[in-house]
Amino acid sequence: MSQYRCDKCDKLIKPDPAAIKVGDKVSVTTSRSTGRSTRLKAVDVRVIEDIGGGEILVKGPGRFGHKVVKRDAVSPADAPTSLSYAFIGVCECGGAA
Ligand SMILES: [Zn+2]
Repeated sequence: MSQYRCDKCDKLIKPDPAAIKVGDKVSVTTSRSTGRSTRLKAVDVRVIEDIGGGEILVKGPGRFGHKVVKRDAVSPADAPTSLSYAFIGVCECGGAA
C-alpha cells in the first residue's frame, strides 16, 4: 500500500489507469440505492478484455457478471479504494521522495 502513499504530502497517489492490463485483478466501486441513501461498495473483478477507447470488460462474482467499465473507473486490487481517496485526499504534489 505504501507505493500509493506520497512521502511528501502524505496523501494518496492515484494508480496509473494505463497500467491496467488483461488478467489483472482490479476493484470497481459500484453504487446501489437503498431507499434514500446510496451505498458504495468495492467489488473485486478481473479484467477480461481491453475493448479500447478507454474501456475494459471485467468479470465479477455472482450477479455482478460481465460489465464494461471505464479504464479510469477501476483501480488495481492492491490500491486504496476510491473511498480512501475521498477521505485522505489525492496527492497533487507529484511525489518524488
Ligand atoms: Zn504528494
